[in-house]
Amino acid sequence: REALRAFLDTRFPEPAPRSGRSRLLVLAGPTAVGKGTVAAHIKEHHPDIHLSVSATTRAPRPGEVHGEHYYFVDDAEFDRLVAEGELLEWATVHNAYRYGTPRGPIEQVLAEGRTVLLEIDLQGARQVRAAEPSATLVFLLPPSWDELVNRLIGRGTEGPEEQARRLRTARGELAAQAEFDYRVVNDDVARAAAEIAALGS
Ligand code: 5GP
Repeated sequence: REALRAFLDTRFPEPAPRSGRSRLLVLAGPTAVGKGTVAAHIKEHHPDIHLSVSATTRAPRPGEVHGEHYYFVDDAEFDRLVAEGELLEWATVHNAYRYGTPRGPIEQVLAEGRTVLLEIDLQGARQVRAAEPSATLVFLLPPSWDELVNRLIGRGTEGPEEQARRLRTARGELAAQAEFDYRVVNDDVARAAAEIAALGS
């Protein structure tokens, strides 16, 4: 782990506060890297940062609240959001459900001079880069490939076939890290969250 850290430090400088980058922060990274956990930590410990709530066509999981974790919508409603240009970006994730970022709240938060964080997939991050070139793109890295595999299997939310498929996706996603402005290693959730929050200050 320390060897990886040292390697990353030489290859990629420590994240420093944005230069010429906007307060639109995009957090992406491979499946099971812990994006959701880091985003939840930022929401709790850095309340100045607004965490965007996405629309999705997938069904709520136990404990998920409409309007707080996601806006759970049906296909017709998602079609309407796309047709009316209400989404800043959207994508079909893991070949299953559609997810998208409502544009309105983001524009409002940015207009207030506040920072907004999007926790989205790689396809979405690329669309935000194209739509808003000044956005700050952050790639969350696992401490190691083995750690990523352990996390995906350990959380037990997917069956073996889905796990294998997501790991293949993760390999491809890791290759995209060079497209990002910053890379943050998720070896410690609080530290990773603080690093990301600093990029939006
Ligand atoms: P989950 O269904 O586990 O909550 O999320 C699955 C994936 O969807 C995660 O990789 C998450 O980053 C991605 N995701 C969530 N919201 C959005 C969104 O608004 N746009 C895009 N492109 N991806 C999203």
